[in-house]
Amino acid sequence: MLCPKCRNTTLKRVTVKKTGVQVDRCSRCKGVWFDAEELEAVLHVAAKELAVPSDAEKSTSLSCMRCNSPLFRFEYPQTYVQVDMCKKCRGLWLDSGELTEIKVVRQSLQESGELEEYAPVPGAKGQLLRFIDTAIEALMGE
Ligand SMILES: [Zn+2]
Ligand SMILES: [Zn+2]
Repeated sequence: MLCPKCRNTTLKRVTVKKTGVQVDRCSRCKGVWFDAEELEAVLHVAAKELAVPSDAEKSTSLSCMRCNSPLFRFEYPQTYVQVDMCKKCRGLWLDSGELTEIKVVRQSLQESGELEEYAPVPGAKGQLLRFIDTAIEALMGE
């Protein structure tokens, strides 16, 4: 599958350490594609059952690499990060660094008790934070 952004670069399937979840990443722009529910599996503070809001705008340049439908651009819940999502398959495209931003913002909301749609993962908090760090490192580090 080709990167929705670079177009001529093939996405590489990478496994997120400890989660076993496989995601598709572009080696050129470092963007990551998450199929439906994959983000929740990787990031415990991810919004549960994320969907395209009705007022989201159609992305002018990006289309879904699975079904070729246009992606819709909107603000990830409780962050200022703009993400792109397919209405049909609910796949989600994150540019390089966006995953980290979502993580940081939503994690701080969680710490202050303001995080909504919290997807619980069993275990002590310290373990959770280490788990997230490992997941992010595995995706972003190279
Ligand atoms: Zn790319
Ligand atoms: Zn699609």
